[in-house]
Amino acid sequence: MLFAGQETIFASQKSVIHSESRGHLALHAFLSPPCCGIIGLFVPWMTTRFRIEGSAAMPTDIKFLGHASFQIEIAGKTVLIDPFLTDNPVASTSADELSADAIILTHGHGDHVGDTVSIARRTGAQVIANFEIVGWLNGQGIENTHPMHIGGSHVFDFGTVKLTIAHHGSGLPDGSYGGNPAGVLLTTDDGTLYHAGDTALFMDMQLIGEAGIDLAILPIGDNFTMGPDDALRAVEFLRPKRVVPVHYNTWPVIEQDAAAWAERVAQEKSVQAIVLQPGESTEL
Ligand SMILES: [Zn+2]
Repeated sequence: MLFAGQETIFASQKSVIHSESRGHLALHAFLSPPCCGIIGLFVPWMTTRFRIEGSAAMPTDIKFLGHASFQIEIAGKTVLIDPFLTDNPVASTSADELSADAIILTHGHGDHVGDTVSIARRTGAQVIANFEIVGWLNGQGIENTHPMHIGGSHVFDFGTVKLTIAHHGSGLPDGSYGGNPAGVLLTTDDGTLYHAGDTALFMDMQLIGEAGIDLAILPIGDNFTMGPDDALRAVEFLRPKRVVPVHYNTWPVIEQDAAAWAERVAQEKSVQAIVLQPGESTEL
């Protein structure tokens, strides 16, 4: 119900928002003292104008690969988040078909580390994860890694990554210690994406929301993570412009009606929820 057509509608809404923003800036400048008026009128207009054209030329494309896996195209770079494909019954592609410049991992569980080792080995992609997972990857022969930890951010050539808290586990597939689980704030020229990883609902989502989230990716499957009711409260805490539900319908134990949830998000929280089928994309 909320697929390609809705995206088209949103694309035009996005343009309207930018146009309104430009008009507001121009109006503000018009009301400023005369000495600042001309500069005030043109500089924000040109800046905003340039930003719109830059975005139109190369928008950040966010493709859902199934479960909680994403392939993100940012300014010519391909970034994967939690590439779990081989044992994923709803995967839209196979690990062998993916290219990658970077791989970001939220935590160490098998349904998130997934095919990271084979993809990194084949592509040479840099793997970004917490310190403990990076140590484990180094032990698997993956040397192109970047360790981070919760609360830290780092500027990469595709954007800025910050790891946030998540309430979950992080043990690695072979039982090794995987540190603490995380969420990911990814900021690009097009906006800010928040992939919550696997987590329960927590009040500090209000703090994370202060980053100004354009697109939130939230688990709704229940049992292992937030269920639909808590995910609805997460939308309230985070205040994203749009939200994509994940981590549901991969197995019977996390079956959910995502379309019904999306309807509740729209009606109760006035936020647009986009239900992506594996293989479908949206833009940041
Ligand atoms: Zn999971």
